[in-house]
Amino acid sequence: MTITPQPGILDIALYQGGAASVEGVADVVKLSSNENPFGPSPRASDAFRQSAGELHVYPSTQHERLREAIGEVHGVDPERVICGVGSDEIISFLCYAYAGPGDEVLHTEHGFGMYKISALAAGATPVSVKENERVTDVDALLAGVTERTKLVFIANPNNPTGTMIPEAEVARLADGLPAGCLLVLDGAYAEYVDGFDAGLSVMEGRKNVFMTRTFSKIYGLGGLRIGWGYGPQAIVDTLNRIRGPFNLSGPALKAAHAAVRDTGYTERCRRENAKWREWLAAQLAKVGVPSDPSECNFILARFGSEDEARACDAALKAKGLIVRMVGGYNLPECLRITIGSEQACRRVAAVIAEFKGQG
Ligand SMILES: *Cc1c(COP(=O)(O)O)cnc(C)c1O
Repeated sequence: MTITPQPGILDIALYQGGAASVEGVADVVKLSSNENPFGPSPRASDAFRQSAGELHVYPSTQHERLREAIGEVHGVDPERVICGVGSDEIISFLCYAYAGPGDEVLHTEHGFGMYKISALAAGATPVSVKENERVTDVDALLAGVTERTKLVFIANPNNPTGTMIPEAEVARLADGLPAGCLLVLDGAYAEYVDGFDAGLSVMEGRKNVFMTRTFSKIYGLGGLRIGWGYGPQAIVDTLNRIRGPFNLSGPALKAAHAAVRDTGYTERCRRENAKWREWLAAQLAKVGVPSDPSECNFILARFGSEDEARACDAALKAKGLIVRMVGGYNLPECLRITIGSEQACRRVAAVIAEFKGQG
């Protein structure tokens, strides 16, 4: 007898993280993981440093302080918030709790890679559904649902496309799902969208919608691994049964608490991101590299072919600019470029203009 993992586990492709260095190039900028170029709020860094004297103390198990701060800032009921080691952990709790062998987990064609990984880890079958020109297609999702579908994941706005669908479409999706099927709205980039409630109004009065959020993007705390989920009480209570009691470290909880309360900092990051995102998209469009209007902290630059995208990626890399090839997301002719600082955006625009022979 050989020692064999559970069915599905060996089908999981290892996650490819964004690269961080280029051999022989000193002045490297990482624009491959949608990190906040300004880092976290200084208040979050201070809180983290202050927690250095308490490393022997076990952290809170219920995360009350953080959940209350999230409740106040985001206008949600803290009782229905669950905190996780990144939203990745919340996504995996959802799969473990609600999908198993024989069940299907729907995600969109260019959806976030963790949906598929977590579905397989839970023994369920991930099912990819076509998008409409890089936009979530509600009709296609509804057509893809079967009696075995337990979870439907959409990121709104989505990574790596940057596009989003309106509230009415999300509501239509929720209302079209059969009983026993949960819609999960991944709001990793919700804070970047001006005046967007991340889908909270769609959740109101519905029992089949859950939301995931993260501190890794606009809050600039990807290195600490903090995320949260929000939804019907029964679902939150279920997920808490499989959550490790000490899943979040004390320093992470303190930093997240300070970060979520520094709403002025979040607002500045949102505005700066929008300004340079529009600028960069316009510069690239001028030299023949289009992108869909993005609501996120990246743009998805489209090239004529996979070869051209590869060549442009190499040209950027040679200048120390690391962006993301997204062939793994079924977009081989595209490069996903995180909106960095003004200087980083200017460097990217200059290299791509030169690459297109218009520098
Ligand atoms: C970055 C990202 C996340 C965040 O994952 P964490 O585990 O919270 O760092 C979740 N969903 C999408 C679509 C993302 O792009």
